[in-house]
Amino acid sequence: MAEKRDYYEVLGVAKTASDDELKKAYRKKAKKYHPDLNPGNKEAEVKFKEVNEAYEVLSDKQKRQRYDQFGHAGVDPSYGAGGGGGAYGGAGFGGFDDLGDIFETFFGGGFGGRSGGRRQNPNAPRRGADNHVNIVLDFFEAAKGCKKTITIEKLETCDECGGTGAAKGTSPKTCPDCGGTGQVTTNQRTPFGVIQSQRPCSRCGGTGKIVDTPCKKCGGGGRVSATKKVDVNIPAGIDDDQTIALRGYGDAGVNGGPSGDVIVIVSVRPDPLFERRGFDVWVEVPITYYTAVMGGEVTVPTVHGKVKYEVPEGTQPGTTFRLRGKGIPYLNGRGKGDEYVKVSIEVPKKLNKDQKKELEEFEQSLSIEQNYEKQKGFFERLKDLWK
Ligand SMILES: [Zn+2]
Ligand SMILES: [Zn+2]
Repeated sequence: MAEKRDYYEVLGVAKTASDDELKKAYRKKAKKYHPDLNPGNKEAEVKFKEVNEAYEVLSDKQKRQRYDQFGHAGVDPSYGAGGGGGAYGGAGFGGFDDLGDIFETFFGGGFGGRSGGRRQNPNAPRRGADNHVNIVLDFFEAAKGCKKTITIEKLETCDECGGTGAAKGTSPKTCPDCGGTGQVTTNQRTPFGVIQSQRPCSRCGGTGKIVDTPCKKCGGGGRVSATKKVDVNIPAGIDDDQTIALRGYGDAGVNGGPSGDVIVIVSVRPDPLFERRGFDVWVEVPITYYTAVMGGEVTVPTVHGKVKYEVPEGTQPGTTFRLRGKGIPYLNGRGKGDEYVKVSIEVPKKLNKDQKKELEEFEQSLSIEQNYEKQKGFFERLKDLWK
């Protein structure tokens, strides 16, 4: 079996990372390795899967707790299985694992009863996990809204057994090893004395129930994986890094618990023409030297189509004008941002001899006093400076 990387290392966070830190780290990495942004890059694809797997486990409180305690074996039954409890599967390392458990008992507040998963009633309803789907939109799809079909991989309640995991006509029995609590108590001899610790019952896997004849369809798990296509309405105005929650579209719950959600994480590709700042749009429009001098009509692109704009005579480079209400629609559907149009002036190149001559004559007909306000002010300031 290939060596699996530590999930915290995969996401680049500390073991103590908060849910928020995890989420942030996940989004950053998922975006970096997203297949749409790395077409044909096998390494990115592998990394993307790895990142998703790490987040799926660490974002789930119970799975994270099991992972923290047992490593990969705690969340993936096929990983390192078959050994006598060595969580990392390596022969001879089992002892370390026990030691880890002892330290956890001492320092992890284990005496007074662990909070969360371990003492929880295994038959209590549990909400299904959230699934994360990344989508990449172009500038216009985000600005104007669109419909996208996404593919969701999720766990569904098995329709054959109704989620009990028992074959049709049978029902699960209470586990005789743990009496239905899902926990077994073990005593361990240690240099500090005998330490009592609880472990999930191995016979029933911590559920407290035994299925004698497992359901054929789900293999006794009560849930089956399914691939679903879902149409998502992307609202106009959505921006990079924002999310859309599809309530109840995630994994089916356990023991009658509610389904999780699907969280759609939106990335927006940068556009060569339009730059978005909040709900405002910035665009740079090149005009000719002639139009800048004489004024004239220019065509300005906006999110909502072309707009004619009358540039005044003597327009200077960098002049910015605002087109009210021509920006991005607000997410609540009421109103829009503005578009800011920054004028850049293109200086003509590759003039021929005659053109140069004409320009020279024209330039000599101008005076700083009359025609060049900035030059005039600049030279006056220089004079003051060296007085
Ligand atoms: Zn079933
Ligand atoms: Zn049991």
